[in-house]
Amino acid sequence: MRIAIIGAGSAGLAALRQVTYYLTTGDNQNEDKVTEVVCYEKTDQVGGIWVYTPETGVDQYGLPIHSSMYKNLRTNLPKEVMGFPDFPMPENPKSYISRTEVLDFLNYFCDNFKLRSLIKFRHNVECIEPSGKPEENQVSGSSTKWTVTVKNLETSVIAKEIFDAVMVCNGHYFEPSLPIIEGHDKFQGQQLHSHDYRVPETFANKTVVVVGAGPSGMDLALEISSKAKQVIFSHHSRKPIRTVFPENVIQKPDIARIEETGVVFSNGDFQKVDIIFYCTGYRYSFPFLAKSCGIKVESNMVTPLWKHLVSINNPTLALIGIPYYICAFNMFDLQVRFLLKFWTNEKQFPSKEEMLAEEATELKKKLEKGLEKRHFHMMGSEQSNYYDDLSNTAGITPLPPVLTKLHNHRSLRFLDDLIHYREERYKIIDDYNYIQL
Ligand SMILES: Cc1cc2nc3c(=O)[nH]c(=O)nc-3n(C[C@H](O)[C@H](O)[C@H](O)COP(=O)(O)OP(=O)(O)OC[C@H]3O[C@@H](n4cnc5c(N)ncnc54)[C@H](O)[C@@H]3O)c2cc1C
Repeated sequence: MRIAIIGAGSAGLAALRQVTYYLTTGDNQNEDKVTEVVCYEKTDQVGGIWVYTPETGVDQYGLPIHSSMYKNLRTNLPKEVMGFPDFPMPENPKSYISRTEVLDFLNYFCDNFKLRSLIKFRHNVECIEPSGKPEENQVSGSSTKWTVTVKNLETSVIAKEIFDAVMVCNGHYFEPSLPIIEGHDKFQGQQLHSHDYRVPETFANKTVVVVGAGPSGMDLALEISSKAKQVIFSHHSRKPIRTVFPENVIQKPDIARIEETGVVFSNGDFQKVDIIFYCTGYRYSFPFLAKSCGIKVESNMVTPLWKHLVSINNPTLALIGIPYYICAFNMFDLQVRFLLKFWTNEKQFPSKEEMLAEEATELKKKLEKGLEKRHFHMMGSEQSNYYDDLSNTAGITPLPPVLTKLHNHRSLRFLDDLIHYREERYKIIDDYNYIQL
């Protein structure tokens, strides 16, 4: 089996590492053993989103800058839940660490498992399409092969390679989701999405309306308040935000309309502003997946996928890292271990009908709970159910419940005390318990 991995961020590295196990030391005796793995990465280094660049727009090859990382970012999760299952983050007096410490960790992971030589850097995947004859109800080792068209950015040479299976690890925080607000095209000031935010100096002495109270909106409303004249934090958070913001930050409801010089909120208030700063999240995007791959993004739900991971139409195609509000690196590792059990024929995929029914049932349950379709991949406080489902279904080592426990605790602290929560320190003492130091 030849496997392609698209992207060498943390998901791609997790994938490479687990595939390498089957490649080199696996005791798997069946004929679907992995014979080769190639990872394509369009930038010149590993780490994906954790690679900071002051640049925005397009890179030297005319490709959109991938990373949304900003200069002063510290993790919004304690490092204790951010490692890989058997490869934790190194000792550090802090729990909330800097972006460079995370990037160092990923480079260390990459070198520790000797993954770098398996990565083709500066190789942009332009197209993935099925090359074999698609069959109904395909199972592991199925006849669908994949043609991957890849451009060597240094030489501009475009090649087509055939693979038996593909893991897509292209990240989900690079394609801005921008709301269409009435009058947005009339505004004479600056409009910016958090994808292009780098340093707070951009906002020096400006009046800025920050749109959205997700993790970025919360963090950045606070960060830019150190430089901006005034920050108007516009959101409809259903969860109570108890954080006491600095005096130059005021909270307002959603923007109803944009005018030439400012914004009108849903309560009718008008505010003159210099900059509208959209912290409105991202859209799933797979620009290289041909339509014939059978994957759609509908209202930001990626479908049809079995367990938020496996293409139901062609199970030798998998998208790693779709769920969000999770312990990312741990989950990537779990998803890949799950997948490899099926791809190497140790487990059999259910029928297409069964997989579709499972996805439909989960969607129905979430809609009944009052969630929208765009929240389908959100895990949050119930992430352990997802982890347990994967490990029970594939018969693989589960993730310890303490991860979800500490993640949930952090989610409350984030809303209650955004200004100080990163000073807190934790230690995991066993699979179920952590202590605050
Ligand atoms: C601002 C911000 C802060 C965050 N903070 C945290 C945090 O504190 N803790 C946490 O756990 N998570 C955090 N996250 C989530 C973070 O995205 C995940 O933790 C994780 O790093 C995502 O890894 P990934 O490999 O899926 O994607 P990415 O890191 O985005 O990597 C994708 C890789 O694929 C490559 N690629 C894309 N398209 C192609 C192509 N066509 N051809 C070749 N290569 C391609 C890219 O260049 C990139 O290297 C944060 C996210 C953002 C945006």
